[in-house]
Amino acid sequence: MSTAGTAEVAVRHILGDKVTGGFLQPRTRTITWTDAHYVVKRPPSGKHTVELTCTECSASLLAEVRDRATTRTLAAVLRVVGIVCAVVFFAALAYAIHEGGKTLPEGQSLPALFPISVVAVVVTFVAGPVFYLHGRNYNGVSMLDAPKPRRRHRIMPVKAARSRVRTRR
Ligand SMILES: [Zn+2]
Repeated sequence: MSTAGTAEVAVRHILGDKVTGGFLQPRTRTITWTDAHYVVKRPPSGKHTVELTCTECSASLLAEVRDRATTRTLAAVLRVVGIVCAVVFFAALAYAIHEGGKTLPEGQSLPALFPISVVAVVVTFVAGPVFYLHGRNYNGVSMLDAPKPRRRHRIMPVKAARSRVRTRR
């Protein structure tokens, strides 16, 4: 291995985040932003901090960049956690349907595992895709610090933004 590699990121400046509807009409969230692309160098090992500048407001953001091997490992771990969540989801769902569908004799309550399985279904339904997509998009760059309000800025992996457009349903 001769090069430590690079990672491509977009520094995103959030211009507006509006939520409309929600009462009578369906809720829609409109986020507008501008972004600037940067190519950051990876350290040979471990992690280092880079400073990126927002082209919109010239704020400087601190980002942490991990080496390539660690990035790959973490991305794989996140994907595996996502897959494990999917397995737990289907197992818990099958169990909840099985137990919930039974006709119980008078005075007998559902087993204690039933509410646990319902919680597991809900949690893994939300967490599974989050972990999986995070693992697929993870490029080892994360934002450490930004001027307040912090929510105005985000550092996005560029490959992820592209694949998200491609897989939109
Ligand atoms: Zn900005």
